[in-house]
Amino acid sequence: MPIQLFQAHFDVEACLGQVRDCLERGWTGMGYKTVEFEEAWKGYTGLRNAYYTNSNTAGLYMAVDILRDRLDWSEGDEIITTPLTFVSTNHAIARSGLRPVFADVDDTLCLDPDSVEERITDRTRAVMFVGFGGSTGRLADIVAICKNKGIPLILDAAHMAGTRYADGSLPGANGDADIIVYSFQAVKNLPTGDSGMICCSDDQLDAEVRKRAWLGINKDTYARTISKDGTYKWRYDVEYIGDKYNGNAIMAAIALAQLPHLDRDNAYRRTLAEWYTRQFEAWSDKIRLVRVPDDCVSSRHLFQILVDDRDGLMMYLNANGVYPGVHYTANTEYRMYSYAKGTCPNAEYVSEHVVSLPMHMGITFEDVREISEHVVRYVVNELRC
Ligand SMILES: *Cc1c(COP(=O)(O)O)cnc(C)c1O
Repeated sequence: MPIQLFQAHFDVEACLGQVRDCLERGWTGMGYKTVEFEEAWKGYTGLRNAYYTNSNTAGLYMAVDILRDRLDWSEGDEIITTPLTFVSTNHAIARSGLRPVFADVDDTLCLDPDSVEERITDRTRAVMFVGFGGSTGRLADIVAICKNKGIPLILDAAHMAGTRYADGSLPGANGDADIIVYSFQAVKNLPTGDSGMICCSDDQLDAEVRKRAWLGINKDTYARTISKDGTYKWRYDVEYIGDKYNGNAIMAAIALAQLPHLDRDNAYRRTLAEWYTRQFEAWSDKIRLVRVPDDCVSSRHLFQILVDDRDGLMMYLNANGVYPGVHYTANTEYRMYSYAKGTCPNAEYVSEHVVSLPMHMGITFEDVREISEHVVRYVVNELRC
């Protein structure tokens, strides 16, 4: 049996039950389960606001747009970001007419606060932080920099569903990040099909998100002025050209069925990470691990190693029925962000040497041992296929 990098695990009966509710009620669109899931997510995270979107990408796009409009940013203004991410993070900046300014990563593979400080100019308008692999990295230091400079912080928490600090607090909460965006895409820790959540610390930003995500439609104007008695419920105002980024009840139904399993699944991911770590302990000079901060209880979306001959190892593992992944090619290697090529040596090194090993609920201790043995055989004994 081939061993894949990711394989979503669903509570099938619970999912079917939740989806059945939607079908029997005859409502699969926005509302109903989407509202239920927003409430459930607020309960789970303790966050003040949550709006359910059709993806994390949609949430990131809106995060940059609403801050740009609110704070009057202009074309060419800068957002400091990481090259080591899925392109959504940086597309969100570029498509709003802003300039992604790439800072380097540290040994957690998250943004290095020192590099961020070096990149701050009088055109810096925000920082975009990615909780890489579920890690908090040095987020607290980044929060301090942002507060000190008075610039907003957007947290791309696509990998962070379930990540906490050791004291139980939630990364980015209590206004540490202005906007947090989660992903419930098919291979993330809380898989649906495609969906996400955008959580604003400020109620007005949340209201803006709700309007923008639905074509700029504002139902509240009439609700407040005319329909106190419930008449004219069908009237609404349209303020500008918004997006169509709302999530739907079918995806939310799956999310509601999956949420009760998130903490247990993440605990198992941490166990897998410990098993891998122990397998590689003796080979730390040739198989290097990614540091997770002591106070971070990571969702462990990823378990990664760094090796000299990454591409060779990938092929060797493939030849042995193991299909790992690469997170990520530094975005500065892509044509559209190549203006920054060479500016982030750590990220570019990682980009060439990192491997993500299989990490999901179907992986057993035996699998970890088998995968690790293949890795050691190739890297340490320099076996070739
Ligand atoms: C998956 C991912 C996204 C995009 O999430 P979608 O829900 O697929 O839009 C953004 N950023 C990172 C770091 C991701 O891993």
